Amino acid sequence: MAFGLMAVCNQAEQTLVNLARTASFLYHSSMDILTLGSDVLHQKAAPVENIKKDSRKWHEIAAMMLEAVKAGKGVGLAGPQIGLMQRIFVVSIEGDDPRVFINPSIIETSTETVKYEEGCLSIPGIWADVVRPKTVKVQAWNEKGGAFTLEARGLLARVILHEYDHLEGVLFIDRLSEHKRKKILDKTAKMASTRRARAGGKAAPDKQASDERT
Ligand code: ZN
Repeated sequence: MAFGLMAVCNQAEQTLVNLARTASFLYHSSMDILTLGSDVLHQKAAPVENIKKDSRKWHEIAAMMLEAVKAGKGVGLAGPQIGLMQRIFVVSIEGDDPRVFINPSIIETSTETVKYEEGCLSIPGIWADVVRPKTVKVQAWNEKGGAFTLEARGLLARVILHEYDHLEGVLFIDRLSEHKRKKILDKTAKMASTRRARAGGKAAPDKQASDERT
């Protein structure tokens, strides 16, 4: 009984912590996309609670995220990339409706894999071939709190798997060989120091001209 009460208290406390996090995110939100070097990109995001009750808030967040994807000429964005450590990502692929995934679960992936060149709004200027399952079955909730299951293939499957990784604190470069990953890290460090030098000590914003970045 005491344990049960403690569990309820802990749960309530966690809900408050999550609400405070989201509120502070909304207050400070400028939708800056965090880039490599930011610790939160390697952290696991927490589940969203009460999606239906807070559907207005999640609708606003999803709309802002989709705007950021458009502005960055990407195809997807996950909560941790904007410092929102909750399990939400959005996908926006040309010719398809924008999609919002909250608390997603990967139910099934194909054993057949495919190699495809990926980029990431959090790792500007870097592209690399990543091997992933060809198809994915995912269950999630939309911003209104409606549950759905989706079977995806092609670019949509690719983006879902990339964004899901973000919720787990995994970046696409973590899926490369140690050698390739190190080469990329060296390159991004060089790019960052060039940017700093050009900006006279201040970090300049990245030019984000490529598409299909997630
Ligand atoms: Zn990404």
